[in-house]
Amino acid sequence: MSSPDQPAADQVKERTGTPLLEVRALTAHHGQLRALTDVSLSVFPGDVYAIIGANGAGKSTLLRTIAGLHRPTTGSILLDGADVTGQRPERRLAAGIAMVPEGRRLFGSLTVEENLQVGSSYARPGPWNIERVYELFSWMRDRRGQRAAQLSGGEQQSVAIGRALVANPRVLLLDELSLGLAPLIVRRIYGTLPGLLAAGVTVLLVEQDVSQALRVATRIHCLLEGATTLEGPPEGVSPQRIESAYFGLAGVAGVAGPGGGSPPHQEPPS
Ligand code: ATP
Repeated sequence: MSSPDQPAADQVKERTGTPLLEVRALTAHHGQLRALTDVSLSVFPGDVYAIIGANGAGKSTLLRTIAGLHRPTTGSILLDGADVTGQRPERRLAAGIAMVPEGRRLFGSLTVEENLQVGSSYARPGPWNIERVYELFSWMRDRRGQRAAQLSGGEQQSVAIGRALVANPRVLLLDELSLGLAPLIVRRIYGTLPGLLAAGVTVLLVEQDVSQALRVATRIHCLLEGATTLEGPPEGVSPQRIESAYFGLAGVAGVAGPGGGSPPHQEPPS
């Protein structure tokens, strides 16, 4: 049975056939800076697919490009086999790609419920609605009239997740859920993942905290300076392998042998 921290391992279906979300040879720039180089990945139904990597590795650029908020230089993005690369973000949302952006980006002057209503603007038909979000986050119903700016960081993150859910996504993109939140709150928020997976939502997340990513992921994908350095199921990948993929080092001292020791630190040394 899944624990709150390991929601998905027993829910993953066969990773064969047409991926739910596929990224093919994606390259993206910010002006002259190449932020992504030839990145490919396949997300299958039931995956919790985690993108890891250090500051500036290109994780947010990848998620934003998948959501249609950043235009790639080359490469393509397919949802259930259909090419969505040229589609605007609203069309992708209506097709089933919803994103919880880094920093939550709620409308601070709107109430909790008004923020959730914004999320339903381009909703697909499906099981999620505002009532269902209130069932997932039980505190929210009583505070639905409160302005979003008055909520704590963790509460705002939950509203941001709810806002994405009411669009009834097939793939939920989560950008740095744990950023700026206390560990207990992070655990609570990640604790909602099993419920989402059980409801048929597939998750592609960006997480700088590698330990956290390893706790929940069915698949990890490490980026280093915009390029893929590691991809696969997390089981059996040694801490050294992850650490060298994360930092780009051939060998790292002070890490325990294969299968033992702690996962790499969440932050690279400054
Ligand atoms: P972080 O964890 O710090 O958010 P990240 O892995 O998400 O990092 P990105 O935010 O995708 O990385 O950034 C990838 C590269 O692109 C970095 O070098 C970053 O400085 C640069 N970059 C990102 N956004 C912009 C932008 N709007 N304009 C110019 N450069 C950008």
